[in-house]
Amino acid sequence: MLHLGMFEIGKPLGKGKFGRVYLARERSSGFVCALKVLHKNELQQSRVEKQVQREIEIQSNLRHPNILRLYGHFHDRKRIFLILEFAGRGELYKHLRKANRFSEPKAAHYVAQMASALRYLHRKHVIHRDIKPENILIGIHGEIKISDFGWSVHAPGNRRKTYCGTLDYLPPEMVSAVNPDNSYDGRVDLWALGVLTYEFLVGEAPFEDTPAMTCRRISRADMEIPSFLSVEATSFIKGLLVVNPEIRLNLEQVQQHPWILKHCR
Ligand code: AMP
Repeated sequence: MLHLGMFEIGKPLGKGKFGRVYLARERSSGFVCALKVLHKNELQQSRVEKQVQREIEIQSNLRHPNILRLYGHFHDRKRIFLILEFAGRGELYKHLRKANRFSEPKAAHYVAQMASALRYLHRKHVIHRDIKPENILIGIHGEIKISDFGWSVHAPGNRRKTYCGTLDYLPPEMVSAVNPDNSYDGRVDLWALGVLTYEFLVGEAPFEDTPAMTCRRISRADMEIPSFLSVEATSFIKGLLVVNPEIRLNLEQVQQHPWILKHCR
């Protein structure tokens, strides 16, 4: 049985909406990990116990180099502890804000890793639904680690809960009245990959605006692509930010796209 006494707790790594994350070491093996501490009463008050439970179930079963591992979990009377893989270089979001934007080769490498992880997820019928720089960590070798499966679901799904994060990464099929039952599938993650690629290369999301305008612009894929982007990068983004999910690039096409091939082989 896992318990807190088995770990030596180190420095705080960060603080999220629910709980804190610490560097930790398992005493007997010396194994270094990140320990995430969630307070049960806070989860209850925000009515996210089910969401956390699902996050644990889904993430425990995933094994991919670009997906943050969840090794195990345990709880005491007041808290839930998640034993996570330690992502040595922290948040991608911070790297992006510091760099303002990434070079095309760097962005293409990150996007290729994202595509590989998404392919793995979709093969397991898991849709992440919340792909954005804040939910991506970087490992010690500079590799992508997708984290935060709090919004992920087994495909296909309908949107039932109220969404309270940023609108910037939501696809047309989730913001639009054209799709009244809000049905969607794994292709929502491909739209988000397009938004992510844009943000990597431009330094801001393509539909950043007031909330009402963001929705309107998303439903029309109304964006401007700066002229400093290469022809290949432009075609890549335009291939993903397509309103009709049927016509959007799929993951196979992403991996074979000239922009990815140019930088990743
Ligand atoms: P979260 O509650 O998951 O949003 O985590 C809060 C913050 O802690 C993140 O934004 C990261 O800066 C840090 N963090 C979370 N998990 C890890 C991890 N596995 N490795 C390194 N840092 C982490």
